[in-house]
Amino acid sequence: MNSAAPPSKDLAAVKGTKDILPGEVEVWQRVEAEAKRLFELYGFRELRAPVIEPTELYLKGTGETTDIVTKEMYTFTDKSGRSITLRPEYTPSVARAIVEHRLDLLGTPMRYYYIGPMFRYDKPQKGRYRQFHQIDIEVFGEKDPAVDAEIVEMADSLLRRLGVRGTETLVNSVGCRACRPAYGRDLKARAEAVRDRLCEDCRRKVEANPLRIFDCKVEGCRAEARNFPKITDYLCEECRDHFARFRGCLDLLGVAHRPEPNLVRGLDYYTKTIFEIVAGEGGQQNAVLGGGRYDDMMKDLGGPDICGTGFAMGLERLIALLDVKPEPRKFVYLIHVGEEAKTRAAVAARDLRAAGMEALLEFGVRNFKSQFARANKLGAGWALIIGEDEIRGGLYKVKDMATGDQKDVRPEGVVEFLRPRLEG
Ligand code: AMP
Repeated sequence: MNSAAPPSKDLAAVKGTKDILPGEVEVWQRVEAEAKRLFELYGFRELRAPVIEPTELYLKGTGETTDIVTKEMYTFTDKSGRSITLRPEYTPSVARAIVEHRLDLLGTPMRYYYIGPMFRYDKPQKGRYRQFHQIDIEVFGEKDPAVDAEIVEMADSLLRRLGVRGTETLVNSVGCRACRPAYGRDLKARAEAVRDRLCEDCRRKVEANPLRIFDCKVEGCRAEARNFPKITDYLCEECRDHFARFRGCLDLLGVAHRPEPNLVRGLDYYTKTIFEIVAGEGGQQNAVLGGGRYDDMMKDLGGPDICGTGFAMGLERLIALLDVKPEPRKFVYLIHVGEEAKTRAAVAARDLRAAGMEALLEFGVRNFKSQFARANKLGAGWALIIGEDEIRGGLYKVKDMATGDQKDVRPEGVVEFLRPRLEG
């Protein structure tokens, strides 16, 4: 587009979404590469599921009374009349894929990771988007609290490798189906007693699922929730023991953490362990990652009785904490003057790229001087100059843009000449 006018409002990016442009995307690539490398060291493998899923997956998996399902899903009916949802979270997709492909029968560890976009129709603000990106990891088929500790240690290790400092790890247990009913009764009674002081949304939650009041972002509701009964006072022996062993493992692995009895996380499927890593002054927007155990989810989806545990890390929030500048790229800018030089430059660029070097060639009609200025402006490490004299003499010029040193090199010797210089 030639016009300098911004696109009309109809054509601008959808509210709550954003473009990740060159200059910024290098940081994303670095974080993603680091995460993949680390997860593979822990035996995780990538599992890529579709962006769209049947809506029922989230009704059953995420939970019908969660904020995600009641308010935040991008749901539409496709041309066949089927209700489809853009995934708001990843765990149900992994559970579905395991059931669908019977991955549990393969005998391989069910440790999966994925990095990609999620969609929630939430109120956009700093750190909260409608299309955001998560690094998601899941372990299925492992009941031991040591696995919960192992994944928290893995998350902690990723943050440290990326140079993130000043985070806090909060842990809690939300119990299981044996210990939750008694807690649910007391919680409901207490919530009913303060119903008038809760927001409209939370008043509905008193009946539907009082645990979800803890997810409310309204300060008045949060203040009330701080005085609600604590789930940790209701845990059955098995859950209490699981939580104690989880914390013991974290200590052994050297992961500092703090129990937070009000932490319940916004999803219905959690059982026993839950955790969050927060940055800055705390609060919802500062949760860089959250996760926990979901021992009943697979069963609830109609699959085999396989337990699970995992976490999701928000990439936008993680990247906002990083203080990294992308490394300047080392590349060769090819300067060509004349028709024959243009085709020779194209061949030289192909050869450089085939040998693993970045080579940039532009075809706008420009003289030597303006191409040289471009090479400078773009920060090329080297310029390869091919003009009429160079073609006639059978020697190209290779110029070090930093020092200004220039050498004559035979065309077939260019790759050999530049390789050690670009790598060094
Ligand atoms: P959740 O799937 O809600 O447990 O969230 C896991 C992590 O994803 C959070 O700790 C955030 O870092 C990130 N996250 C969740 N919702 C959003 C959003 N709307 N925008 C940006 N990041 C989000």
